Amino acid sequence: MRRILMLSALLMALFTASAQEFDTHFDDTTLRIDYTFSGNATAQYVALNALSKSEGWWGRRINLATNPLKGNGDLTLYDKQSGEVLYTTSFSSLFQEWITTPEAVSVTRSFEFTILAPMPKHSVDAEIVLRNNRGEATAIMRHTIEPNDRLIHDYSKAEALPYEYVHRGGSSKECIDVVILAEGYTPEQMETYIEDARITAEEILSYEPFNTHRDKFNFIAVYSPSKDSGVSVPQNGLWCDTAVGSNFLTFYMERYLTSSNVYKMYDLVRNIPCEHLVILANTDTYGGGGIYNSYTLTTAHHPAFRPVVVHEFGHSFAGLGDEYFYANSDSNDEMHSLSHEPWEQNITTLVDFGSKWADMVAEGVEIPTAVTSERTANYTVGVYEGGGYRTKGVYRPTDVCRMRNNTAEQFCPVCQRCIERVILHQAE
Ligand SMILES: [Zn+2]
Repeated sequence: MRRILMLSALLMALFTASAQEFDTHFDDTTLRIDYTFSGNATAQYVALNALSKSEGWWGRRINLATNPLKGNGDLTLYDKQSGEVLYTTSFSSLFQEWITTPEAVSVTRSFEFTILAPMPKHSVDAEIVLRNNRGEATAIMRHTIEPNDRLIHDYSKAEALPYEYVHRGGSSKECIDVVILAEGYTPEQMETYIEDARITAEEILSYEPFNTHRDKFNFIAVYSPSKDSGVSVPQNGLWCDTAVGSNFLTFYMERYLTSSNVYKMYDLVRNIPCEHLVILANTDTYGGGGIYNSYTLTTAHHPAFRPVVVHEFGHSFAGLGDEYFYANSDSNDEMHSLSHEPWEQNITTLVDFGSKWADMVAEGVEIPTAVTSERTANYTVGVYEGGGYRTKGVYRPTDVCRMRNNTAEQFCPVCQRCIERVILHQAE
């Protein structure tokens, strides 16, 4: 009994310490930083586009100075006077995928990118870094943010779009707030959208470890109607007027549905508690994508909607890599360099396997691990060759997983551990 009391006193002290730390350096206000990432295959740049603020800070108030995952880039806020790290967050971006495409060899383009951070009380230096697939910084930009800068656009009085909770685990200050946006649903189709949003929350929360931590999540469906029903399909010559202007054929890949209108997405969630974005597209065509700490965009009326939305959320929430691979794709060395350990926690090149799931491989399981029907059925953790779009040189933790096949019934134990680490980093 006494031990329990002491432990709870210690936990209280820890909680109070971090809450105080937050209150010392930050206001209960969201600072939105809009950047543009520009460049091509050989050179990349970051530029500041705009700063704005809105009421309330809905992100983490603990673990402010650490990231659970490296990502393909990060933003860090340094105290201007002491140089202390006050806040950091990591991410990946559509721009960094684009620079690996053939188009980036001959064209220079720019992409929108938005980061939400707590509003600092004093001057900070913001440093944003982009990294390539070998972990090397390819673009660094530093700028000072003065909290009393009169050109930080104040949207705290702006009216939020109507929204409703389709799952409520608790208060937005403590929970992880996942915001769902409607894409390609007309005002008359909002009932269908809410039903799709409900399925999204239910489906994600039915998987471990989300299920165990369901009380740490809120899922908020925003009524973001579109003029047209459906989304743009350029390969069919079809362009629609929709809430976030998404389209298939991203990077000329037929099934790749994304939106480059990132500022628009954040306009739609203004003054709504938002930490993660899931955009549901009103179409029955298969497609979608998920980008770590950026957004998930997926199609809501394809028969594989349920497993796909969970898969894409695995990317956008926990930065999980794809465990699938295609034959004849090994000429593409752009996504994963075989001489470098990728940061995604569920794939390895064995360059630094100790930093991955070596501690989860049981004795007697050989490396690389041979696929057997028993191992597949039991989700036996090993080192199975094939993953990250490559048949050779990249390895996955189990034969099947939600990050590999739509038929898998769960995330593999390695993906589950990664997801849980991210959950606990945001909401202990
Ligand atoms: Zn997995």
